[in-house]
Amino acid sequence: MGVMIQAENLRKVYRIGNEKVAALAGIDLTIEQGEVCCIVGQSGSGKSTLLNMLAGLEKPTRGRITIAGERITEMDEDSLTLFRQKNLGFIFQSYNLLPRLTATENAALPLLFHGVDKTKRNKAALRELREMGIENRAHHKPSEMSGGQQQRVAIARAFVVRPKVIFADEPTGNLDSETTMTVMQTMLDRAARFGITFVMVTHEPDLSLLCDRTITLRDGKIISDERNENKITEELK
Ligand code: ADP
Ligand code: MG
Repeated sequence: MGVMIQAENLRKVYRIGNEKVAALAGIDLTIEQGEVCCIVGQSGSGKSTLLNMLAGLEKPTRGRITIAGERITEMDEDSLTLFRQKNLGFIFQSYNLLPRLTATENAALPLLFHGVDKTKRNKAALRELREMGIENRAHHKPSEMSGGQQQRVAIARAFVVRPKVIFADEPTGNLDSETTMTVMQTMLDRAARFGITFVMVTHEPDLSLLCDRTITLRDGKIISDERNENKITEELK
């Protein structure tokens, strides 16, 4: 174990006309390798902003972020893109699947950047789709799938390269409560098996019971950061 993510004095100010919104007002955070963290807080508290900064999708106004020993806040766009492709996976609230590609092709996409040939890409993608219980939608395009199915394709895509860290913004927001627990458990089991650090935003209090740690935001600040001693692992299997 070692430190995987370190954020120091992170601030993000959005400007709309003359108005300024401090979405993040000074965040200091250290996440260990293999840790499963959830970020909670009311709507507008800065959860998505924090996740996007940590994942290198948006630049903070101030502060610095180090992932796996690399200072990502000092990288230029090209280096950052490469770093993300190599080390990070994302599960977005809005899935971000490519509309013209099938479920398999979408899930296989990150492997393209790793120079894996097509047969191997598709095989790996199918395995991930099977893990998520949607193998039977392998040839469907996003418009031919429900929100929940698209979400599971997005999860398959995040895992396919075995990144160092997966960031997820409300990854089960479009699933019914029963499916949510199954998908969550599968995701977290796979993260544990491959030693992937997992950072997820959620507004469902039950889900924090599955995590090692719960970080609560309010008005862009961390108001509590608690280890979960009673993490549920076995009961749900
Ligand atoms: P959460 O995910 O916790 O609901 P966000 O991180 O999306 O919260 O937003 C935090 C605050 O920053 C909110 O007040 C929101 O309105 C503001 N905000 C987020 N993104 C933008 C943006 N692109 N432009 C302006 N304000 C934004
Ligand atoms: Mg959000």
